[in-house]
Amino acid sequence: MTALITAVLYAVWFFNKNIPGLRLWMLAFLLGSVFSVSLLTRDMLPEVVAVAISQGSISTAAYLSLLASRMYMGRRPLSHRYAVAGIGALIALSLYFTVVQPHLGMRFLLAGLGPAIGFLLTARTLAHGGVRRVPARYLFALVVGLHGVFLLLRPALFKLSAVTSTGQVDTNLVQLLSQFVVLEGIVAVVLMGFGALVLANEYITSELRHLAEVDPLTNVFNRRAFLTLLDKAISSAQRTQSDLPVLVMDLDHFKKINDTWGHRAGDDVLRHFVMLANRCLRKEDVMGRLGGEEFAIFLSNAGGGGAIAVAERLRALVEAQPLATDRRPIQLTVSVGVTLCASGDTADMALQRADEAMYLAKERGRNRVEMLVKPAVPDLALAATAG
Ligand code: GH3
Ligand code: MG
Ligand code: MG
Repeated sequence: MTALITAVLYAVWFFNKNIPGLRLWMLAFLLGSVFSVSLLTRDMLPEVVAVAISQGSISTAAYLSLLASRMYMGRRPLSHRYAVAGIGALIALSLYFTVVQPHLGMRFLLAGLGPAIGFLLTARTLAHGGVRRVPARYLFALVVGLHGVFLLLRPALFKLSAVTSTGQVDTNLVQLLSQFVVLEGIVAVVLMGFGALVLANEYITSELRHLAEVDPLTNVFNRRAFLTLLDKAISSAQRTQSDLPVLVMDLDHFKKINDTWGHRAGDDVLRHFVMLANRCLRKEDVMGRLGGEEFAIFLSNAGGGGAIAVAERLRALVEAQPLATDRRPIQLTVSVGVTLCASGDTADMALQRADEAMYLAKERGRNRVEMLVKPAVPDLALAATAG
């Protein structure tokens, strides 16, 4: 089973070498296969060799799974010093309880200890990011964590249940427990292999989602993703009856910047602008690139006054911070249109109005902020009652 899963993980890794940690998981399963073979060939090898191989391979496999999970989560690599010392100590102790002072119980305890620590640390490393957003990580953490706990409890289980009230060892029960331990091992191996594949899938899905939603040049949402988010934000703003300001920004005379400095410098200017805009925004504000040199932002939890203030701050910052180049700085300015989403607005309607406000800013001389709000529609029902 472990060899089969190793082969499957190898195939997946071969075609997706960019999935972080996948190669290490594959290697962990490879060592798991070594462990399984060492169990099967136990009687054919000298006991010392069999014990050293099984203890070393399963503890190293668990350590590799910890390294893989850290890599998947983007955590810094570990120095292997402690692991080497720990695994070395476990092997030495197992050999001690094999040769010097033979003690099956202690060997059994030690056999579970190394992998248990490795698997529990793996579980702790993976369980981050929110169950709803990244369920695969939690699934894997649960499986690997439960297996770790079981490995720790295993010796106690034997000790507690295998001794009858008369103090005798119940061999039937011991045999039953042994079968259960093997079964649990098989189930854990299958579920962990499945977990590694689900993680790989989660990674690929999130990469694709990123590609589909984010503008590669400026790293803000693209038009489609921005409109979807704006639609959601409008619904929730209408539920809570709060204002939702929308800003549309267009760089002034951007064509001239391209013509004078070249397209590459034009791209740098776009990134520079996004960097400046991000400085004016809070975490809950959302920015998107509508196309070319036109961007939009919606500000959650801000009113009309706050929106004008943000727009004005951004306009002034863009004017004050030209893009430094090898030659001279590239001066740029931006025109901003602001509107508030009114009841009955869709994302398209709100953007359209903010766009009109932006064109007003262009007409009135560029490098300025203009605001347009939806003209209030008289409430017909109220008018009828009043009439
Ligand atoms: P205005 O002040 O009226 O907005 O004038 P403008 O020159 O900024 O507007 P116009 O629409 O005439 O020109 C926009 C230019 O933006 C034309 C197009 O080549 C350029 N552009 C669009 N997308 C990109 C891009 O991704 N990179 C670069 N470098 N230029 C782009
Ligand atoms: Mg422009
Ligand atoms: Mg434009």
